[in-house]
Amino acid sequence: MKRPAVDIAGCTLCMGCVAVCPEVFSLNDAGYIVVAEMEAYPAACVNEAIKYCPEDVISWEEE
Ligand code: SF4
Repeated sequence: MKRPAVDIAGCTLCMGCVAVCPEVFSLNDAGYIVVAEMEAYPAACVNEAIKYCPEDVISWEEE
């Protein structure tokens, strides 16, 4: 299954992914972006977040 991944080392916390795709991406209490655990990810919205991310740190990973 494909799953979105965020390379938090390069993330600047612009919150763009959270704005575009809040069901998948959120800011956790520790202050970094996390990907929700889902059976299947909404591809259109994840792709939107990938396009939107100014640091290009979101990608699909094969599990
Ligand atoms: S859009 Fe990219 S840089 Fe912005 S918060 Fe999300 S992962 Fe981080």
